[in-house]
Amino acid sequence: MPDATTPASDDILRVEDLKVHFPVMQGVVIQKQVATVKAVDGISFTLKRGETLGLVGESGCGKSTTGLAVLRMLPPTEGRIVFEGEDIAGHDEERMRGIRKRMQMVYQDPYGSLNPRMRVRDIVGEPLEVHGLGDDRRALRERVSALIAMVGLLPDMADRYPHEFSGGQRQRIGIARAMALEPSLIICDEAVSALDVSIQAQVVNLFMELQQRLGLTYIFIAHDLAVVRHISDRIAVMYLGKIVEIATRDELYRDPLHPYTQALLAAIPIPDPELEATRPQQIISGEVPSALRPPPGCRFHPRCPHAMDVCKTTEPPLKGRPGGRAVACHLHP
Ligand code: SF4
Repeated sequence: MPDATTPASDDILRVEDLKVHFPVMQGVVIQKQVATVKAVDGISFTLKRGETLGLVGESGCGKSTTGLAVLRMLPPTEGRIVFEGEDIAGHDEERMRGIRKRMQMVYQDPYGSLNPRMRVRDIVGEPLEVHGLGDDRRALRERVSALIAMVGLLPDMADRYPHEFSGGQRQRIGIARAMALEPSLIICDEAVSALDVSIQAQVVNLFMELQQRLGLTYIFIAHDLAVVRHISDRIAVMYLGKIVEIATRDELYRDPLHPYTQALLAAIPIPDPELEATRPQQIISGEVPSALRPPPGCRFHPRCPHAMDVCKTTEPPLKGRPGGRAVACHLHP
């Protein structure tokens, strides 16, 4: 398993000081900017080929915005996104066209992202057609059949419509579609969060099988640490637009350093009801503050049980530690 440091040689993706800010406009005839939402506010991480990075945090922390910015479906405000050696942060649509084949997204809601009026065969084959790879109809048909088989669906399912499938099967269709162009990086945005726990495990196993077989690299976005545990090599925890802790999976679960990571871990239910009833509760109080007006100092300080005076005024930097992990907290200078 790779450590949390950032060796450059086999990096497939390097994100440096990425910011995604949105202007808040006011006025009917003449609009002027009255504020800025700093959805992602200066994050850096790297990803090695074949690795899975879990990106975790509560809703509104900027994890999905990060995914969309990496795919350049949202324009970054600042920073570098170096994908397969090329900084794509400033690329226009024309230059992104070829690169998009190599980066794909799998969404949370497979039903919402699949056209209900298209047969599965056409849904899976559409990216090939869009990229001009569908002219040889026989080859297209064979490729689509192979993709459908690869995600564990039966051949006769190719001619059915999305509403005829269960949630887990629909997610398999979404995965087959994402694989059509043989991408090297897949961003899974809450890709299993809406599924029942037993189905979640099957779909996570499918992601892992495909990763082994095809050498894929994943960013696996989720709002809770239970979902990413099985699949991630490293995990980055985000809070209000910042990464607050990044570590290998085993380190993070064994010895979480940031109070927010500790609280997220404490929120995972233990399957044994007796143990669950007796373990100490560590609930994070309050809501995530608005990214429009993040608290000064450490952004987590209004909710942190360990907050000190310095936390209210001075933002802790994300500091590397021996072993390659990094944490942003005054308790770990
Ligand atoms: Fe808590 Fe202070 Fe650490 Fe922030 S810097 S997480 S407020 S102890």
